[in-house]
Amino acid sequence: MVGGCVRDLLLGREPKDFDVVTDASPEEVKKVFRNCRLIGRRFRLAHVFFGREIIEVATFRGSDDFANERVHENGRLLRDNVFGSIEEDVWRRDFTVNALYYNIRDFSVVDYVGGMEDHQAGILKLIGDPVTRYREDPVRMLRAIRFAAKLGFKIHPESEREIPDMANLLENIPSARLYDEVLKLFISGYAVQTFEMLRHYDLFSALFPATDLSLQLETDGFPRLFLAKALENTDLRINEGKSVTPYFLMAAFLWEPVQSAAKEKLKQGKHGAIAYQEAAREAIRFQVKHTAFPKRVGLAMTEVWTLQGRFSHRSGVRAYKLLGHPRFRAAYDFLLLRAETGGADPELADWWTKFQVANQAEQGKMLKKAAGQHRNKRRRPKKSPKSSKQSIATKD
Ligand code: ATP
Ligand code: MG
Repeated sequence: MVGGCVRDLLLGREPKDFDVVTDASPEEVKKVFRNCRLIGRRFRLAHVFFGREIIEVATFRGSDDFANERVHENGRLLRDNVFGSIEEDVWRRDFTVNALYYNIRDFSVVDYVGGMEDHQAGILKLIGDPVTRYREDPVRMLRAIRFAAKLGFKIHPESEREIPDMANLLENIPSARLYDEVLKLFISGYAVQTFEMLRHYDLFSALFPATDLSLQLETDGFPRLFLAKALENTDLRINEGKSVTPYFLMAAFLWEPVQSAAKEKLKQGKHGAIAYQEAAREAIRFQVKHTAFPKRVGLAMTEVWTLQGRFSHRSGVRAYKLLGHPRFRAAYDFLLLRAETGGADPELADWWTKFQVANQAEQGKMLKKAAGQHRNKRRRPKKSPKSSKQSIATKD
């Protein structure tokens, strides 16, 4: 066994998955296990099935066959498909603590790169020259942050020094792979620390440029507080064993860019719902260039955003319609987040909290009262224009 499982077991943690390596070729592995399927065209891997579990079994990778390796002009490895020995395999791995091999024959840990020592000291150290290794695969910078946040390890000074300067190399990584990494980074139970570290190392802007810009333009804690709360809630849910949906987090990340774009459109005289629809479409079109998420994720995000405007309409039919909307729950959670961080009226959020669990008679009373308040407000002359942060479902 190699990689994360050995690293995590040594920490007394339950590994997420088990990676198995062997000197047997994939074909030889297939002969040993009945329930085995070979996958991959360039680099063949064996998937061994144990009930519903799949154990990935890889043959040691070689590194010396340059004939089969194309190195991109900026140093990125495009292909590696050569089998090798364990001594060669070790140089393919990223951090020393990820290059520990647990030998099941004699229960020993095989360590070629001082990984045990680094593990004990809680240090993430790249194997080899950091610049070369980040160039080969810039995603290793994100992995450094992910493991540092998750394990509470420190990134070795030499491995961290180059990160801010090399962060722009992430532009060359296919956006689908970056989205996968984003999910691993934020749906981990350590999203808060991860976010702080990504910003510290200038990596966040490579993943979410529009969000990063809105963070730089921060006023009165917006959108930082809102984002921090969203990440905190995500961690909490994961640690309680609850599920989290990627679209909710993505919607939170892009909320401020969407709002400011929509505000511009409102200024140009566009209708509220249309302004938000258009802003949503543009924000998503821009974001998928960096982290390509599936279409359904974009659709769900848009629904969460556009439903925000409907919370302030508390007339009978509309309120019930919103309550019955398939995306009500997520949109309501989103409203709560906004209300907790000053972006929406807490009274409104509270009303919806009560409304959804009230019985019919109580709901009737609540609707009547809300309608009365609405009428009174309309009669009263407007004191001041709405603040820019409260253009949707806010203190009206
Ligand atoms: P976890 O599964 O807990 O997220 P892990 O370390 O097992 O962490 P995986 O992505 O499962 O991470 O990869 C398994 C192993 O493969 C790693 O421990 C590392 O040795 C190697 N590895 C994975 N990705 C890379 C990479 N981009 N560059 C170098 N080695 C890598
Ligand atoms: Mg793993």
